[in-house]
Amino acid sequence: IEKFQKENSFEIPSFSYEYFVPKTLQGSYNLYDRIDKMNQESNPLFIDVTWNAGGVISPNIPSHKDEVKISQFSGKIIPKVPKTNEIIDTTQQALQLDSCMHMTCTNMTLKEIDSALKKAYESGCENILALRGDPPRSINSNDQESINDAAEKYPFKYAKDLIKYIKEKYGDHFCIGIAAYPEGHPEEGNSDVLIKYLKEKVDLGATFIITQMFYNTEIFINWCDRVRAAGVPESVHIIPGIMPITSYDSFLRRCNWCQIDVPKELNEVLKPVQQDDEALRTLATNYVANMCLKLFRSGHVKHLHFYTMNLEKGSFVILKELERLLGKKVLPWATGLNTNNNKEK
Ligand code: FAD
Repeated sequence: IEKFQKENSFEIPSFSYEYFVPKTLQGSYNLYDRIDKMNQESNPLFIDVTWNAGGVISPNIPSHKDEVKISQFSGKIIPKVPKTNEIIDTTQQALQLDSCMHMTCTNMTLKEIDSALKKAYESGCENILALRGDPPRSINSNDQESINDAAEKYPFKYAKDLIKYIKEKYGDHFCIGIAAYPEGHPEEGNSDVLIKYLKEKVDLGATFIITQMFYNTEIFINWCDRVRAAGVPESVHIIPGIMPITSYDSFLRRCNWCQIDVPKELNEVLKPVQQDDEALRTLATNYVANMCLKLFRSGHVKHLHFYTMNLEKGSFVILKELERLLGKKVLPWATGLNTNNNKEK
């Protein structure tokens, strides 16, 4: 990010795309095509792949053994649906993209954690978003014995435990990122407490922060001020998670699910066109691009992280609109910038 910023005289933000792990084999083929196409079209600085330890195979296949690469069913040879590690291997090795692997740590044995980190290392991956994931299974249990058993089997409780472990095992090989929640986390509503935990993770070695999606720019900027005031240095980039809006229902559902504010002015724009997806997308794109512009101009943000939902258009049109608002080229492919994105950091 620093290199990109200097090369571009700090005038435009860089950006990255996040993809989730598909549930079917066909979905994974589609994903590779899409990642490749989106890279050709807009050349992001890096891509992320979410962590989904249990990549599910097509529903018509009754059982699947993890360690088997090729499984046989009804006389056909069916390749295994790739999981995060394998997708990262393909994006790093075959597509030559700088990739960031998400990795959760609860409900994972030490053996599984070691294996995931080793595979990432061997793929040439140098970036990990260290996460907790779903709460530990023991969290709601009143049975002390089962709590002790779970603690023994799954040694890590919080994302900070994973960061510490990666640092101990791999030193500075991995650039470690963390998640953050400017509007609170479902298990902790007090944002001061969350900032304290965030700082703890930075002190253990995290060097970039990716946030939960949001649409209220004011809350985000105020939160950034507080994160800096709490002692998180400027060298630790705060990267906003940007979610394109494709329909009114999915927009409301996601806001509700993530427990984030629906700004009144955004709802007033979108509600009247809720039945007209095309009009809604045009208006939403303009709103989100303006939001990106405000974030960039706040001085807190140098890089935008798009939750692509594995779709091609949403992020691209926001970047195009941002170019229009800025009056500058943002898409590096068009300018010839960042053509060597995967080789140098
Ligand atoms: P932590 O930092 O461990 O925090 C979890 C909870 O524990 C918080 O409520 C916090 O207040 C509390 N806590 C933290 N530290 C302490 C402490 N020292 N003492 C006491 N309490 C503490 N999930 C997936 O399964 N796969 C993904 O790929 C994925 N990607 C994500 C990407 C982003 C950008 C974001 C924002 C979230 C992502 N998630 C993903 C969801 C994430 O795993 C969950 O939100 C999870 O509940 C919290 O993860 P964390 O890393 O923030 O956890």
